[in-house]
Amino acid sequence: MSSGRVVLASGNRGKLAEFEGLAADLGITLVSQGELDICGADETGLTFVENALIKARHAARESGLPAIADDSGLCVDALHGAPGLFSSRYAGTDGDSEANNAKLLAAMTNIDTVERQAHFVCVLAYLRHPEDPSPIIAEGFWHGRILEAARGNGGFGYDALFFDPLLGLTAAEMPARTKRALSHRGQAVSALRRQLHRSM
Ligand code: IMP
Repeated sequence: MSSGRVVLASGNRGKLAEFEGLAADLGITLVSQGELDICGADETGLTFVENALIKARHAARESGLPAIADDSGLCVDALHGAPGLFSSRYAGTDGDSEANNAKLLAAMTNIDTVERQAHFVCVLAYLRHPEDPSPIIAEGFWHGRILEAARGNGGFGYDALFFDPLLGLTAAEMPARTKRALSHRGQAVSALRRQLHRSM
């Protein structure tokens, strides 16, 4: 990997901040696709990894730069992996966390505690150029279970329903630093950092 600019296939400034440590460590400058006026790709894949690749390829093609994209979501065992790829728009409106959480609780009404296992997934894809046949893929998983009622005020998305049994806290109850260290996204960023270091 050569040092220089890399486009992050996300218009979300919060995510750019999460990747800044990675960029500093690798000596690259991350530019969000929004700053380059590149709009989001259609996420037509059937898996997180396919969608991450679609987004990274689109950003690399439009920018002429190497690209990193992420795709993430919540998979509930008892719901055969739902909300999965549709995590951000499970209840219909993109980003409506309150409605998404309400729909998830309703879908799990009669499910016992022991059957409420779930995991967050984050996949990161790095493409050197749009035709790169050997992308770098990094994944992170965070295992826990879905509570019967929300707990905590921090975080976003499904955090208040996602309980980490090792800490005895929901993702919305733990300090942001703890969440970053444990989470699917934190793990995927660390894995990508290791792989990019090896390829430099
Ligand atoms: P994105 O693809 O990273 O934007 O995430 C898709 C959706 O998955 C988000 O809108 C959330 O609903 C859910 N999600 C992903 N990561 C997290 C997390 O760390 N906490 C809570 N919800 C998450």
